[in-house]
Amino acid sequence: MSFVPEFNSLPVPSLVQKSLAAGAAAVRVSLAKPKPSLADFANLISPAAADFLEHLGRRSHAMTQQRFGKVIRLFAPLYVSNECINNCQYCGFSRDNPILRVTLSLDEVKREAAELKSQGFRNLLLVAGEHPKFVSVNYLRDCVAALHADWPSVSLEVGPLETEDYRPLVAAGADGLVVYQETYNRQVYAQMHTAGPKRNFDWRLETPERAYAAGFRRLGISPLYGLADWRFEAICVAAHADYLLRNCWKAAVTISLPRLRPCAGEFQPLTHMSDRDLAQLVCALRILFPDVGLVLSTRESAKLRDGLLPLGVTMMSAGSHTEPGGYTGAGREKLHQTVRGRIVELGASEWASASENTTAATGQFQIADERSSQEVADLIRRLGYEPVWKDWDAALTA
Ligand code: SF4
Repeated sequence: MSFVPEFNSLPVPSLVQKSLAAGAAAVRVSLAKPKPSLADFANLISPAAADFLEHLGRRSHAMTQQRFGKVIRLFAPLYVSNECINNCQYCGFSRDNPILRVTLSLDEVKREAAELKSQGFRNLLLVAGEHPKFVSVNYLRDCVAALHADWPSVSLEVGPLETEDYRPLVAAGADGLVVYQETYNRQVYAQMHTAGPKRNFDWRLETPERAYAAGFRRLGISPLYGLADWRFEAICVAAHADYLLRNCWKAAVTISLPRLRPCAGEFQPLTHMSDRDLAQLVCALRILFPDVGLVLSTRESAKLRDGLLPLGVTMMSAGSHTEPGGYTGAGREKLHQTVRGRIVELGASEWASASENTTAATGQFQIADERSSQEVADLIRRLGYEPVWKDWDAALTA
């Protein structure tokens, strides 16, 4: 089982062309279909469909309420390490960035989790850079095992692993795996990933399937919007989700909608996706996939998140920190600076000392919605939705 051959045979460029050339009549035909195809999805994300945004929004809103109720699930990312052996041009944690790094000890991870629990969260996403030495399978397993009793849902967003390496993580209590393909454009992918195991596009593309084979029952996928053309990425992630729904049918699939944010390294987006494009994509994904969770993070501004929430979003992070120790200051005494992967004395890099707060690890990117989790929960209530802190009972998915 592999998505790779199916992906390789997808007519993505011609679907993008179809999308760009679609007229209002084609949009109406696609909107009228009870079960739209990938070609219909291309019409729904077309420039012509932008004129139908209100119509798309009403349909997406109604479908989301019908399938999910008036509920927004909240989750918190907990960064356990910002060590990384990859160079990804767009990421603050890239190996060659001279940033302040730390890997939290188990006690420090528990401290961070306890703070998030006191805020109300019960759905945790453990995030780490890819570093086999600092972020080993055993380390991740121990983190999950230490948290599992207190947290009904623990997901991972970490460097891709072999199926056999995923099994102990599932056995320890992890139930979800998130892996962004970053870009589905092979050429852009090669340009963006200049060093490290992440250079292997196909290996990353097959990660959700390996995770599923190991027993993960929640799979999260996404491109990172701002690298290749957003319609190209949207068509690919839709095809990927469709493949996972057909082949990994015991798992719930979620699609995230991250756009590039400022980060260490000061990478500038290669392509533009407007707020309106993002709203249109939320609606089109909902119409194509009535049951798929759509995830919106604090990468987006408070105003935009509030506006997108009723359109089809089902999961949000809130009050997030993207640096290890961000919630409690855990691990600060162990901070070290790296320059091209080598540990150097703190402040030895002009770049880092000029732009970094040397009392905290460097974050992966700057968040845009800086409201606390309680403020976000209050806003969700004011919009007539119920904030749900717990994803679901593990017992229900067994
Ligand atoms: S995107 Fe992931 S793999 Fe790439 S540098 Fe950042 S943390 Fe490392």
